[in-house]
Amino acid sequence: MQDLTIIAATGTALPAPRQNRHYIAGAWVDSAGDTIDRLSPAHGVLVSRSADGTAADAEAAIAAARAAFDDGRWSRLSGRARAAVLLRVADLIEANVDDFALIETLETGKPISQARGEVAGAADLWRYAAALARTVQGDSHNALGEDMLAVVLKEPIGVVSIITPWNFPFWILGQKLPFALAAGCTCVVKPSEMTPSTTVMLCDLLAQAGLPAGVVNVVLGYGQTVGAVLTAHSQVDMVTFTGSTAVGKQITRTAGDTLKKVALELGGKNPQVIFPDADLASAADAVTFGTYFNAGQCCNAGSRIIVHEDIADDFVARVVALSRRVAFGDPLDPATQVGAIVTPEHAAKIDAAVQAAVAEGASVVLGGAALAVPGLGPQFYQPSVIRGVTPGMAIARDEVFGPVLTVLTFRTLDEAIALTNDATYGLSAGVWSENIHTCLAFARAAQAGTVWTNTWMDGFPEVTFGGMKQSGQGRELGRYGLEEFLEVKSLVMRVGRTRT
Ligand code: NAD
Repeated sequence: MQDLTIIAATGTALPAPRQNRHYIAGAWVDSAGDTIDRLSPAHGVLVSRSADGTAADAEAAIAAARAAFDDGRWSRLSGRARAAVLLRVADLIEANVDDFALIETLETGKPISQARGEVAGAADLWRYAAALARTVQGDSHNALGEDMLAVVLKEPIGVVSIITPWNFPFWILGQKLPFALAAGCTCVVKPSEMTPSTTVMLCDLLAQAGLPAGVVNVVLGYGQTVGAVLTAHSQVDMVTFTGSTAVGKQITRTAGDTLKKVALELGGKNPQVIFPDADLASAADAVTFGTYFNAGQCCNAGSRIIVHEDIADDFVARVVALSRRVAFGDPLDPATQVGAIVTPEHAAKIDAAVQAAVAEGASVVLGGAALAVPGLGPQFYQPSVIRGVTPGMAIARDEVFGPVLTVLTFRTLDEAIALTNDATYGLSAGVWSENIHTCLAFARAAQAGTVWTNTWMDGFPEVTFGGMKQSGQGRELGRYGLEEFLEVKSLVMRVGRTRT
């Protein structure tokens, strides 16, 4: 083992396993199908047993959402009334941060401190969406001649299917659900089969906050069964999905038959470009964080390092030194910074990507193997730094989704931009330089939905997020995050003098 920082098992008492059922039309519903067990990736204990939904379960949830939308119990309320409910939900989430965070940690394997941050941050998303609920507005056209007036209205799009991944289950739900509700939509949510519990726990809070039954419905189960129905069904008006690019493409095809709107937040392979005049200490810090946050299982992982060749050796040495200090280990210990990999299969995939890079000629500077954590299961991976990478290698192009950093080098700004844009993805990019002109030239040329300058992964409910190229379509957060859930209708009226 290479001189790393490791936190062993803490011996915290774990809660009894949760039993998760569907939530349809305001009631808990057993599945007609089987159940799905989720073991804690770090501890190997049963965390939850969830309904394995069937097509019939999905159809029942869609019918409930459709009925709730069509009778206007939510969609016809004022923005003020909707905002009041969303604010109560935010308060209730804040009052239950610890309970939600514990389950989130056990199902995902992420550190408890970060799970608390995720849940508290999600409460803020609900609060922000509540503010937006009062701002739904369109346009008026009064330059059409004295007798014509046109008004452009914004209306809720209807029934929305929300499909979420396992890596930030409660945060990603918060990027979608409160915004859809602010717009007046009704929803059917399918969380990842691996991390359903916090989504299920939220249902109790929605009811307590006064959300009418049927406005939010949750169906548990797999993508191929429940997910397929939620994306194909003619009574669903929109799908909003976060997950892998491969599944995003499949959803686009399935949804195409009914031409429903599809919003996608997909994978990334995000570069951080470091110029010689950068504050190298801050850049090395951010690269370390961007690589290991959530064990690298993060669409915004900033682990494709593109560093100027004059400073490459110095910069890699700084990152390796910092990597050794990052605390890997038991997610339940508040001092842990990086927890477990989500499944044994995924841990094996990470290792296979590293070994393939080595076979292609890359060299491992740090890590490059599974990590043994005393008293815990095998699903940990060492902080890993890979050099000798060329732009054509799979490890330079494909999402690894693990704690693995790769290093490419450049000589000129144009080369750095070309390497940045030589990617099928376009989620985020970063630039590190003390020269604002360099930063702006890079930022304008980078094909990425977000460009961070002298920082990495700062996000705000107010600032829109989303991907270009194969990282997605549509946007979340900010005003655009509300607009996605609104339909546009023009009212054209002959009024005034010709009618008097
Ligand atoms: P995934 O695509 O395997 O699964 C995501 C969700 O889709 C799950 O709920 C799954 O059950 C469901 N699903 C699977 N097949 C389906 C189908 N045929 N029809 C409908 N639904 C289906 O992704 P994952 O492994 O859970 O998450 C990791 C991926 O998510 C990574 O690629 C990551 O980059 C991406 N991601 C993107 C963002 C972003 O904001 N851009 C954020 C987080 C994660």
